[in-house]
Amino acid sequence: MSVRISKSAFLSARQCEKRLYLQKHQRELATPRAEDQLAMMQMGIEVGELARKRYPGGVLVEVSAELHGEERKAAQLALTQSLIESNVPAIFEATFEYQGLFVRVDIMVRHPKGWAVYEVKASTNPKKKHLDDLALQVFVLKGLGVHLKRAGVMLLNNRYEKSGDINLEELFKVKDFTKKCLMQREEIAWDLKHYQELIEKESVPEISIGAHCTSPYECEFREHCWAGIPRDSILSLSGNKAVAWSFWEKGIKRMEDIPEEDLEALSPMQKLHVQAQKDQLVHLDRIALSAFLDGLNGPLHFLDFETFASAIPMYDGSGPYEQIPFQFSLHIQQGEKLLHRSFLADATLGEDPRKAFTEALLESISPEGDILVYNISFERRIIQHLAHHLEEYAVPLNKLIHRMKDLIDPFSERMVYFPEMKGKTSIKNVLPALVPEMSYAHLDIANGATASFEFAQLMQKKSPDNEAEIRQQLLNYCEQDTLAMVEILHVLQSL
Ligand code: SF4
Repeated sequence: MSVRISKSAFLSARQCEKRLYLQKHQRELATPRAEDQLAMMQMGIEVGELARKRYPGGVLVEVSAELHGEERKAAQLALTQSLIESNVPAIFEATFEYQGLFVRVDIMVRHPKGWAVYEVKASTNPKKKHLDDLALQVFVLKGLGVHLKRAGVMLLNNRYEKSGDINLEELFKVKDFTKKCLMQREEIAWDLKHYQELIEKESVPEISIGAHCTSPYECEFREHCWAGIPRDSILSLSGNKAVAWSFWEKGIKRMEDIPEEDLEALSPMQKLHVQAQKDQLVHLDRIALSAFLDGLNGPLHFLDFETFASAIPMYDGSGPYEQIPFQFSLHIQQGEKLLHRSFLADATLGEDPRKAFTEALLESISPEGDILVYNISFERRIIQHLAHHLEEYAVPLNKLIHRMKDLIDPFSERMVYFPEMKGKTSIKNVLPALVPEMSYAHLDIANGATASFEFAQLMQKKSPDNEAEIRQQLLNYCEQDTLAMVEILHVLQSL
């Protein structure tokens, strides 16, 4: 009998054969999934469950929770077979095995001329990895002689805007991959045999680290395989990673070792990164920086938003993954005085926070003066969406956009570069370089992703006992972001 291999194990092997081997034999070397990864997986499950509602009368392949291992798989295979032989209009999580390859099909829909199979993804764009996933299912089903009419990936439609109840026909869209899946059958058969032999080998395959460690998936064995790679190796080179990997493969492991003639292959920011790593000097374009600073008009506002995004739109006038703002922090420099204002929605109310957010924002910002944000595209996009959704506030919101300036410009336009920035211009890299005494290390919430995650937990009432504590942590974090901007500007002015 062939060695059994699951669809996800097969896809792991496509990424890296060592990954497959470690999954089978040394699972304990994997790094456990982080909370935000688990939250993403949960979101995927919810999207999958919602997609099933498009097919009333469909039956889920669900077996007793007391069954485990081989017994469980056998029961799933048997139940799937009996549903195929029945006349149910659709089957969810149908389970099949062919030549040792074990797959589950998210949705199978019965048509008079054969089955349509759909792989549901909580994504808005089709990707190569979706096609590869679906092609394995088609390989198995065709191998078993199941009559297929269509194979497609069911994705979220990013043009959909919720209005009243979710319209499932409009929320989902299907990308047809039937022909492309059929074309992969021969290659899959060859790979399957190869992977089955690999699993039975005595030793782990010798595969070096590479770009495949993060693409198409972040590998769970990175900590293990990357142990011993210094933090300041050439792999920490900012920007396009292909450049860093090409040096690495040539044996150039540190930035200091890049030959002069190869520096031309680098982007301007990468060159600065390498140069500063070598000489440890601050780069300063005084003329450009002065022009930036002279162009600022007070009173200066320092503004930062926190948002969350849900794959399934929660509120009318929002679409899949639309960023919903729930919090802002605002510092206003008025002469010597620094004022602070903030807003944090009450997550437990279960209400759309955008109106209260907008009203608090418009009330807090003075009528004059520039509004500094860090990476303007994000805040500008949020305000544009608010203006579209809340027409009554469109005029004052659009006026805010015209007053916004970007504090990232001195760094992204290479007016200022400190070696400690490590080639990156995010506020989390710039702050420790310019204001080393100020950090995020003491904060319980120290990045935007965690802030969104914690707010979502509050919305789902998953942290009722420490709600007040989490709210305070969110307030502290967002305030730190705008205070960091104030301090960064002071340093730029002192330069
Ligand atoms: S970290 Fe890289 S080399 Fe190691 S198993 Fe994963 S993909 Fe393969």
